[in-house]
Amino acid sequence: MQFSELGLKAEIQRAVAEQGYDTPTPIQQQAIPAVMTGRDLMATAQTGTGKTAGFTLPILHRLASGPNDRLTRIAKTPRVLVLVPTRELAIQVEESVRTYGKYLPVNSLAVFGGVGINPQIANLRRGVDILVATPGRLLDHVQQRTVDLSGIEIFVLDEADRMLDMGFIRDIRKVIALLPKTRQNLMFSATFSPEIRELAGGLLHDPASVDVAPRNTAAETVTQRVIETDREKKKALLCHLLTSRGWHQVLVFARTKHGADALARTLDKAGIKSAAIHGDKSQGARTRALNDFKDGKLVTLVATDIAARGIDIDALPYVINYELPNVPEDYVHRIGRTGRAGMEGEALSLVCHDERGQLKDIEKLIKRSLERVVIEGFEQSASAAPRPVQPPRGPRKPSAPGKSPEKRGQKTHGQPSHRSGQRHR
Ligand code: AMP
Repeated sequence: MQFSELGLKAEIQRAVAEQGYDTPTPIQQQAIPAVMTGRDLMATAQTGTGKTAGFTLPILHRLASGPNDRLTRIAKTPRVLVLVPTRELAIQVEESVRTYGKYLPVNSLAVFGGVGINPQIANLRRGVDILVATPGRLLDHVQQRTVDLSGIEIFVLDEADRMLDMGFIRDIRKVIALLPKTRQNLMFSATFSPEIRELAGGLLHDPASVDVAPRNTAAETVTQRVIETDREKKKALLCHLLTSRGWHQVLVFARTKHGADALARTLDKAGIKSAAIHGDKSQGARTRALNDFKDGKLVTLVATDIAARGIDIDALPYVINYELPNVPEDYVHRIGRTGRAGMEGEALSLVCHDERGQLKDIEKLIKRSLERVVIEGFEQSASAAPRPVQPPRGPRKPSAPGKSPEKRGQKTHGQPSHRSGQRHR
């Protein structure tokens, strides 16, 4: 299928062509026609699938079409609201709107916390068609009466699962309560958990549903294996795997921020160039690490689940789960980072005795049992004891039961949340 077959306005097609895209991605093929008809949409898709253009293009088309065409009027209240969890995403989405809407008389604006509110107020006054916002700062504007949401025709909830992870549910509900009753709703989420289902149930009316979650695609091209070992052998095993196989661009997952740091240090000391990224790292440090990883200056990048979600690398050859995630859906996200676009990928999970329960949950979710591999010298000892209820005191290894995984909602991605943003005001 070609973009030209979707029936998007010529101005939009021209902007898309300028980006060098001729074929819509699977989510775009499914979402664009549905959104163009005015239907609500529930899409299960993560970053990297082309989801942003999947909603931006048909929204622009709708704004610029039909009797509702008010793009040229002055003193506008926003017609489209895109709610996103982070300021990075707000910036990214608004840039997409600008890129694809460059030949249309459409105004867009991103508002988020952590920066001064006054320039945002001035921009809002000038009139905005498409407003991209993080929940906290949007509610600040509502409170100060510097934004009017009564004219919203299309509401987009992007990365809904991450929003919930970050504790935005109450803010989301407040925002929804401010919107007109009749509107089109689009919801995007990487997972379809019971909480997401509940939120979707209250928000969407007879939605078209699109599912391009990696669970369907990754399984075919990604080799998934489990190496059974002991917890205390994992570091040495990882070094062995990385040096003996000559792998490059390996994304390694750890469960905690502390664990990710410690592991990156160990690997570095062993001569395997590594860096860690997680929510406590500054934006600069994360960008640097990511660029070094992309440029091949690092062999491994050690990441926590939340930090890894922002990584946009098209095709990673290898993913290693140094520790299994507690949430089985996170496993699917992790391995979805490899084997993209039909490329071969390899996902290895180092699993110790304590993690058998997590492994079982994952296998249940993906509806298949994973191949077990034993590496000589790193076998799981027969006497491996089940996990103690109370962790022993003293310094512990990363996934010790006493350590909590990276806490969701805490300065995720190293950027200020809207709350810290308020303090900056
Ligand atoms: P997203 O999932 O929206 O974050 O998009 C991931 C990346 O894919 C972005 O860099 C887009 O510019 C790019 N992209 C979006 N649509 C297409 C397409 N149809 N063909 C090629 N690249 C695309």
